[in-house]
Amino acid sequence: MVNPTDSVIAAGTDEAREIIETIERWAERELRPVAKKYDHADEYPEDIVAQMKELGLFGATISPEYGGLGLSASVYARIVMSISSIWMAPVGIFNSHLIMAACVQRHGTPAQKQRWLPRFATGELRGGIGLTEPNAGTDLQSIRSLARREGEGYVINGTKTWITNGVQGTCFGILVKTDPEAQPRHKGMSMFICEKGDGFRAAKKIKKLGYKAIDSAELVFEDHRVEAERLVGGVEGRGFQQAVGGLELGRINVAARGAGIASGALRDALRYSQERQTFGKPISQHQAIQLKLADMATRVEAARLLIDQAARKYDTGERCDLESSMAKLFASEAGVENSLEAMRIFGGYSYSTDFDVERYYRDAPLMCIGEGTNEMQRIIIARQLIERNPI
Ligand SMILES: Cc1cc2nc3c(=O)[nH]c(=O)nc-3n(C[C@H](O)[C@H](O)[C@H](O)COP(=O)(O)OP(=O)(O)OC[C@H]3O[C@@H](n4cnc5c(N)ncnc54)[C@H](O)[C@@H]3O)c2cc1C
Repeated sequence: MVNPTDSVIAAGTDEAREIIETIERWAERELRPVAKKYDHADEYPEDIVAQMKELGLFGATISPEYGGLGLSASVYARIVMSISSIWMAPVGIFNSHLIMAACVQRHGTPAQKQRWLPRFATGELRGGIGLTEPNAGTDLQSIRSLARREGEGYVINGTKTWITNGVQGTCFGILVKTDPEAQPRHKGMSMFICEKGDGFRAAKKIKKLGYKAIDSAELVFEDHRVEAERLVGGVEGRGFQQAVGGLELGRINVAARGAGIASGALRDALRYSQERQTFGKPISQHQAIQLKLADMATRVEAARLLIDQAARKYDTGERCDLESSMAKLFASEAGVENSLEAMRIFGGYSYSTDFDVERYYRDAPLMCIGEGTNEMQRIIIARQLIERNPI
């Protein structure tokens, strides 16, 4: 059990090292043996979730004041990378939940923080964040879900899709329009904390290429009544900023997942290439394979450095939009490239479900889509470059 402390846990401290090592040992001991089983059965890993609760992961970035571990972005990124190098999907179970928690922690009223954060931190109440709709992902300001003021509260109608933890979770941060006519559009958007019940249900679990065992679902709201205290921050019109305000940290996290997959693919390829023999020698002795291994290792190191840089800046309160976008872009592409190279190195066996590389290959592309697609990251990077270098 990782003990909650009274201060934010910074990188490089004994405490941080202890937490990282504890998680690394746990992932190796508990996740590695069951990853294939849960992934292939697409089954929610109840026992792993119970262990993650025990480890404090559902409160990893929640302040100790509310019962969380208070990990800095640098330390959190390290544990995300370690877990993802073995099996990425379990990270989504606590990470989406922590995005919802971060929204309350950063933007909630004191009463909302007291009400929700302690229960989020223990994992007693679990869920995620509902932004995407069938007609709107990148263009979030086009969402159609509506919260209509009625008496002392609101009535919510609409549909969310692709929501991580949508079936297993019970509590979600939901982005809606409170004023669909507002201009600019984002001024008419608000975030509510909604719990499943009358008028709020998961309609269907979406079947996926990868990122299995964790559920992605469509959420439906039909005259779902909520009290006004569930409006995050207590003021309408701030939902868009609340949703995108956590994106820098979100991008560092997705980058860490991509880098984790990239390093897992490298680790497995390095091992296999020294075991597999062709033409009388291990394939690691063929220069064509060595070139792949060298590129894979370089990508992992570069991704790690970009993530460390972005996370360090985030932790010291410096602006890091450019750095977190670069880390997200590079590390997620590294995950895709390294998993494909591992497939090539494993030859025909890469197609066998007896090995892990086919899972890395199916899981990696999601990192290029989540927390802003990589097309959008390039646009953000270019805009920042121009803004920071005016002539
Ligand atoms: C497994 C999974 C889990 C997810 N979990 C969640 C979750 O928990 N909560 C949640 O709210 N959402 C979640 N999502 C949704 C995810 O955030 C969206 O899929 C993502 O934001 C992209 O939106 P979209 O799919 O609507 O693509 P679109 O916005 O339709 O984009 C399609 C393509 O057009 C490009 N594009 C769009 N606009 C521009 C532009 N202006 N300039 C250049 N290119 C552009 C995009 O880069 C992309 O290549 C999840 C998705 C998946 C697959």
